[in-house]
Amino acid sequence: MRRAVAGPEIERLIQLLARVPGLGPRSARRAALHLIKKRESLMAPLAGAMDEVLAKITTCQVCGNLDVRSPCSVCADETREAGILVVVADVADLWALERSGAVSARYHVLGGTLSPLDGIGPDDLNVASLLARVNREGTGEVLLALGATVDGQTTAHYITELLRETGVKVTRLAHGVPVGGELDYLDEGTLAAAIRARTSL
Ligand code: ZN
Repeated sequence: MRRAVAGPEIERLIQLLARVPGLGPRSARRAALHLIKKRESLMAPLAGAMDEVLAKITTCQVCGNLDVRSPCSVCADETREAGILVVVADVADLWALERSGAVSARYHVLGGTLSPLDGIGPDDLNVASLLARVNREGTGEVLLALGATVDGQTTAHYITELLRETGVKVTRLAHGVPVGGELDYLDEGTLAAAIRARTSL
């Protein structure tokens, strides 16, 4: 039997940290020890920051983003390009696109992708609110920033059909060679998609 190194409170901290994406049991143990050693300069402010976020966190009633205010910081940002709506599956995708700095538009978070196998249908996603928003805001372009997976593409197809009656322009992300990617490392599907989506120079 393994003997306990620390009391149950510390073991519980380690177990909770191990559930954070990117941390396994070993990293969680290392993180817990680091936090304990830096309890004044790191652990206390971290606990305070978590408390504060926990007290204020809310889902944006406009786009579905997570923030401490609704409308969220993105929706409230007047400097963003009006008329373009970027549709993403998850808040993580919104944050990733924001990190890239490539778009300065507003978003609509679906909350997942259509997945018949998992029983996820249109009613489980924020698609009705997307349609209502396009009609209300007079959106000029809907950019479908969904994954190049079967579910992602099924969802893109469904939304394209749904928006057809509104007359809004619907675009999607290009599929192809990643920046810095070597051709001979790519799978056949990606190479074929890149050739189909070729552009003239
Ligand atoms: Zn928002």
